[in-house]
Amino acid sequence: MSDQVAAAESGAAAPAWKSFSSEQLAAIEDARAVVRAKGALARDPKGTYGLICRACTKPNSVDVDFCTGCGFPSQPEDVQRLPDNIFKELVDGKDIGAVVRFRDEDSIVVSGGAKARSEVTQF
Ligand SMILES: [Zn+2]
Repeated sequence: MSDQVAAAESGAAAPAWKSFSSEQLAAIEDARAVVRAKGALARDPKGTYGLICRACTKPNSVDVDFCTGCGFPSQPEDVQRLPDNIFKELVDGKDIGAVVRFRDEDSIVVSGGAKARSEVTQF
């Protein structure tokens, strides 16, 4: 049986991390070790934190043991601060590195910026 047939018969529903190589899994453990070496995460009370899956990058609640998207086992080292609400920052007048292309009473169009890709929002 070829590898392709074996992969097809194992079912496409298997999460990607089940077929990670030992090198990929080692890289995840290395990344966690780097985080661990930095010590406890100093949490900003104004920040929002989530557990970012190392396998599929899905943000999860901080208290899950497994990713709710792919089932990859999570570790406390996977907790990260989530991006702030860039639209609120923009509306509040904070410089987020974006250029306001258009603004009226009902809408705002911005582009660029380190945090903002081309986006349109209405409020
Ligand atoms: Zn995941």
